[in-house]
Amino acid sequence: NEKGVFYALDLGGTNFRILRVHLKGEGGGLAAQEFTEVSIPPNLMVGTSDELFGYIVEEVLKFVAQEGEDFHPAVGRKRELGFTFSFPVMQTSIASGTLIRWTKGFNVEDTVGQDVVVKLNAAMERKGLDMCNQRQVNDTVGTLAGGRYTNKDVVASVILGTGTNAAYVECVQAIPKWHGPLPKSGEMVVNTEWGNFQTSHLPLTEYDHALDAESINPGEQIFEKIISGMYLGEIVRRVLCRLAEEASFFGGSVPPKLKVPFILQTPDMSVMHHDMSPDLKLVGNKLKDVLDISNSSLKVRKVVIEVCNIVATRGARLAAAGLFGILKKIGRDTVKTGEQQRSVIAMDGGLFEHYTEFRKSLENTLCELLGSEVSEHIVIEHANDGSGIGAALLAASHSKYCQADES
Ligand code: ADP
Ligand code: MG
Repeated sequence: NEKGVFYALDLGGTNFRILRVHLKGEGGGLAAQEFTEVSIPPNLMVGTSDELFGYIVEEVLKFVAQEGEDFHPAVGRKRELGFTFSFPVMQTSIASGTLIRWTKGFNVEDTVGQDVVVKLNAAMERKGLDMCNQRQVNDTVGTLAGGRYTNKDVVASVILGTGTNAAYVECVQAIPKWHGPLPKSGEMVVNTEWGNFQTSHLPLTEYDHALDAESINPGEQIFEKIISGMYLGEIVRRVLCRLAEEASFFGGSVPPKLKVPFILQTPDMSVMHHDMSPDLKLVGNKLKDVLDISNSSLKVRKVVIEVCNIVATRGARLAAAGLFGILKKIGRDTVKTGEQQRSVIAMDGGLFEHYTEFRKSLENTLCELLGSEVSEHIVIEHANDGSGIGAALLAASHSKYCQADES
């Protein structure tokens, strides 16, 4: 029921977002929101903690400087910041969490094992950014919180963006790991970190093994590496490269650009996959612009689409299987007699939002697994900016820590 203006910082991929959210209070929801998106220079993704957090804080300073008058905090209040940090964290409270490992191409070694809130606060102090920052959450939990704020039927959240993860609401009794005090609601959020899921039952191809071995985090985040936006285009590139090497797919020699890791990105793959033109002109253009392959034949273009289709469909079906597993765990996979509860899944991430064929395949697979009767009661809701707004809401719900006189 807090009202006022809250900031959120969302760091979880190659871009980070800074949001300004106006809460009306008393369940009145969100009045206004503004955001900016900034890309992180690649060298900072593998540099030092001080450089990375320093850069982020400088961008926040710029964004705060553009704050309109109606967004100014009340007298005696500091600006408050919720921090969405979407990497695996050992979280001991809402105000602290130590980084377990980086994912999604980041590798800032001196942050591992450190408290990321402390790191951010230190950078804020160094750069003279006077904000109260005591809350840290990841995108997945933030999306769940943000989704539930407006809709009590939200039972789980899934992120399909640069990386992937899911969280859900569980009965405390069903969490044997938990030995702390029991929450009044009897419920607790479980952050699955499913991106790191791995089992011998999950078949991997030689392309997956090679991608993993050459990655910044070999052996980790295997589920993420076959599902999420950071990797799908790269898998397609590896398959096309092999076709070129072993079947002279693009003519006598292997196009040099096809050998460059991560040159073919998932949005490019998505454009090719959705090409409806009779001569597959968009595929031809992407091959030319991204890979320097000109004069591709229609037959070649068709095969390229088929490769995109196979890779995207596999990812989407696996994501659907993960989601089905969660619904099964919380007993939402069967039809109950009497009044059927609706189950809403808050979904966020650029991959799900923009890659239509991926989204359709995920939705169809979930229907297939649940059966049509149960499916009628399961809703996938696109929680745009769910993660950032969730962080702002969590900031608001803990804002009693942030009176100016206390800080
Ligand atoms: P994150 O918050 O994890 O950084 P986002 O939710 O912002 O990620 O999503 C960005 C990711 O979404 C990109 O890495 C890209 O893989 C994917 N993506 C963005 N646009 C498209 C598109 N048009 N088609 C397919 N994938 C896309
Ligand atoms: Mg995000």
